[in-house]
Amino acid sequence: MNYKIPLFQLNFDEQEVLAVTETIRSKWISTGPKCEELETTFAEMLGVKHAISLSNCTDALHLACIVNGIGASDEVLCPSLTFAASVNCIRYVGATPIFCDIRGLHDINIDPEDIQKKITPKTKAIVVVHMAGFPCEMDEIMEIAKKNNLKVIEDACHGPLSEYKDKKLGTIGDVGCFSFFSNKNISTGEGGMIVTNNDEYAERIRLLRSHGMTTMSYQRAKGHATAYDIVELGYNFRMDDIRASIAIVQLKKLQADLDKRVDVRKNYLTALSGIEQIEIPFKNNKEFVSNYIMPIVLKNSTVEKRDALRNYLHENGIQTSNHYPPIHKFSIYKENSSSLPITEYVCENEITLPMYAVLTNKEIAWIAETIKTFFAFYE
Ligand SMILES: *Cc1c(COP(=O)(O)O)cnc(C)c1O
Repeated sequence: MNYKIPLFQLNFDEQEVLAVTETIRSKWISTGPKCEELETTFAEMLGVKHAISLSNCTDALHLACIVNGIGASDEVLCPSLTFAASVNCIRYVGATPIFCDIRGLHDINIDPEDIQKKITPKTKAIVVVHMAGFPCEMDEIMEIAKKNNLKVIEDACHGPLSEYKDKKLGTIGDVGCFSFFSNKNISTGEGGMIVTNNDEYAERIRLLRSHGMTTMSYQRAKGHATAYDIVELGYNFRMDDIRASIAIVQLKKLQADLDKRVDVRKNYLTALSGIEQIEIPFKNNKEFVSNYIMPIVLKNSTVEKRDALRNYLHENGIQTSNHYPPIHKFSIYKENSSSLPITEYVCENEITLPMYAVLTNKEIAWIAETIKTFFAFYE
């Protein structure tokens, strides 16, 4: 179906085409000067010491678990309301995910109180996910981490340039992880970035992303090195210069894109304000955020009612999504399952509305009208 209003629109134009063409013509297409330029720009934009480009965020989360020393017999606290990669990474290193509930319909991020409750002598780290780009309660979480000697991994996939008390998301914990998958704020098809202020972590990540090799082929091609040693069992998690050149263009456009999204969000808040049947998570947020997606949650609802509204929007040409099906209900996480009442309610009653920079006020008004019409006739 061709939607009148899609969920997302790629912010691509001739600039990305030109950047890719230029890189291909340069004849250096694997990890090289474009990746380096991207890393420098990204680190500067976030005000962080190190940014290391990777093939995707799943790799970033995997390396984050390794460099933070997480291993078998460790427990890692994490949300269930997230994409599977935020939790799978814990399993890659043999550790056990312990799911925590979210704060409520008004704040669908991990609940520091539940984090506190679930700490055991085995707890080693916390993975936080800043949903839709809205910051978790980082002061409380960092305080808990400090008191209990825990590492903090930020899955900041939804929040490039999002802020929490003058800091950029991803730079508050021990490491931050970003995705450049097609539908993210920065799109390169596949791609990712890991950031940290820890020099040792950064050095180890550079080794691990490239087979544990002490030099890269670009350095050897330029005559800066002739031999290499392999000092750790590494992976091939590298980004290439073709994707990096797309990311460089995307970064140039990012701030303007996010500024427009702020307006889109404001227009949504106004248009949806009279609808009593829904709660808009993070409604009172005052921080600058990326507005990666636009989630709403139905109040006093059921999964049937939610699906009926999604279907009604679909019939009216409005594409929606659901972020997310809860991880603890998936087959491979049955053994780690626990009771997470708020997560379960939100997962069954959330709808993700269209969100992109060029979404017009007229389109938003139409989406709001369609939702109102549904509630007027449903029951
Ligand atoms: C997209 C996403 C990921 C995975 O990113 P990839 O680059 O596709 O590996 C992880 N966590 C969250 C919250 C995401 O939205």
